Amino acid sequence: MHEMSIAQSIMDIVQQEMARHQVSRVSVIRLVVGEFTAVVPDSLTFCLELITKDTPLEGVQVELEEVPLTGRCKACGQEFPIVEYRFVCPECQSGEVETVGGKELYIKEIEAE
Ligand SMILES: [Zn+2]
Repeated sequence: MHEMSIAQSIMDIVQQEMARHQVSRVSVIRLVVGEFTAVVPDSLTFCLELITKDTPLEGVQVELEEVPLTGRCKACGQEFPIVEYRFVCPECQSGEVETVGGKELYIKEIEAE
């Protein structure tokens, strides 16, 4: 499962951070997840619950911030939300579109107790 390996690497990072800051309890983990990462938020939350069970991180609150897929037209500079993977500029109909949002997947914040 895609989400399980992501959950695992998130936990690795959280544990590294905890060790680095000498923190033994974490109350909230805030994640930023782009729409284009193909991560299902509910599934990721579920996997995080699974792998934190019986660890010091059990019961940690996970908050997900979803970033919609956003494109920028290379021809006219217009930024717009990409709906149904239509990579076409609504202003000038150009197909030269780069993705500027929606591919993110990172830990925004870890809140220690
Ligand atoms: Zn355009």
